[in-house]
Amino acid sequence: MLTVKAYGATSTGPLVPLTVERRDVGPQDVLIEIKYAGICHSDIHKVKGEWGPCPYPLTVGHEIAGVVAEVGSEVTKFKVGDHVGVGCMVNSCGECDRCREGLEQYCENGNVGTYGSVDRDGTITQGGYSTHIVVVESFVLRIPDALPLDQAAPLLCAGITMYSPLRRFDTGPGKKVAIVGLGGLGHMGVKLAAAMGAEVSVISQSLKKQEEGLRLGAKHYYASSDPETFKEVRGQFDLIVNTVSAHIELDQYLGLLAFDGAFVDVGLPAEPLDFRLFSLLRNRRTMTGSSIGGIAETQEMLDFCGEHGIGSDIEVIPADYINEAYERVIASDVRYRFVIDTATL
Ligand code: NAP
Ligand code: ZN
Repeated sequence: MLTVKAYGATSTGPLVPLTVERRDVGPQDVLIEIKYAGICHSDIHKVKGEWGPCPYPLTVGHEIAGVVAEVGSEVTKFKVGDHVGVGCMVNSCGECDRCREGLEQYCENGNVGTYGSVDRDGTITQGGYSTHIVVVESFVLRIPDALPLDQAAPLLCAGITMYSPLRRFDTGPGKKVAIVGLGGLGHMGVKLAAAMGAEVSVISQSLKKQEEGLRLGAKHYYASSDPETFKEVRGQFDLIVNTVSAHIELDQYLGLLAFDGAFVDVGLPAEPLDFRLFSLLRNRRTMTGSSIGGIAETQEMLDFCGEHGIGSDIEVIPADYINEAYERVIASDVRYRFVIDTATL
């Protein structure tokens, strides 16, 4: 057992320095020295108990980038020194239909989340705001050399969560895609959809970040606070991906979809959202959700980002800034992902 430094929650209050235990490296395990860990809004929902009871003490973090420090005797894909990442899952049953299809995130027996899940040995998994993690090699991703590790960390959740629905709905030239909310997920959505060749729009609360949104790859930028927006672009989009971490008026957004258009929700606010079914019937619209992405698709996304030089726009912070960073994320004051330098833990 390895005891390592971490930062975690012991209550809904501020995160504090603590330690977590990592299991001994088994034959199929990889020991990763974590260099950077992104702060996802999901971490905040979780430690604040917004999704239900949180198993304190809990170290969160599922945007992990680091270097292989040790490999088990049966590991074939990785060697010491490789640049690797871990996202939101660290295991799944591997046998159900979903796992066989490479959709481990929808494992019929429930995947093992990187934090707050019951692991195979009965312990509660502890996430990436820590110096080391031990993960079975099949859930370890290869980070292309072209990508700096700090900018790559957020790809492991924010990147794949946007890449997967964009691919599922054939994003490419001729498609009009709107990304709602320009935060961690949203800014990756803009970069990825633009790299895939779509015409990208951002719908943000205000026009404050318009210039940056256009620089990230958007062609159009709209403010949801301006009622004119919902008239101006009514019936226009083939795909809308909603990343908002809070309540939105769904009917307004569904009205922006073209015939056969799809609204994909990835945002997970604490409270339920409702909408009128008429909003779907008109224009034969689809409404669906999407959860991260499978392991093979996550690797595909990382390779795509390597080829296109796509990293996350980040603010690297020391561990003692985590609580302030949380406040700034909640206030939508993030450009566009906080990434913890784990050397400061
Ligand atoms: P984030 O960085 O905080 O971005 C969320 C954005 O939503 C904000 O930047 C803001 O954009 C907008 N927003 C915030 N409050 C709002 C409000 N009251 N009204 C309208 N817009 C508001 O969060 P994130 O890390 O990208 O995560 C976004 C959501 O996705 C979270 O709920 C998270 O739990 C969830 N998530 C889901 C998955 C999945 O697999 N489905 C994976 C990761 C995260 P503007 O400033 O541009 O308005
Ligand atoms: Zn996340």
